[in-house]
Amino acid sequence: MTTPLPRPLPLDGNAAAGPLAGVLAGDATTAVARCSGCGATAVLAAAVVFRTAMGTVVRCASCEHVLVVVVERPDGTVMSARGCSWVRV
Ligand SMILES: [Zn+2]
Repeated sequence: MTTPLPRPLPLDGNAAAGPLAGVLAGDATTAVARCSGCGATAVLAAAVVFRTAMGTVVRCASCEHVLVVVVERPDGTVMSARGCSWVRV
């Protein structure tokens, strides 16, 4: 029988500033993403991109699953990467 590890104390969102800065800074096209549709992994620069007045849609080059959507709005830029299982920067 193993003893469960103690749960860490919760912190406010400011504690994520450092790790998030490392993820959100730099050239995102060199990041490697895993497609949650087919499991392919590739740099985002190898994906297929469609740009319209509505926004930018980044699709997997292997299966066309939507990896990332970026929409520029008056109140800021909104990004969804829910089509990626993970992204390595
Ligand atoms: Zn795919």
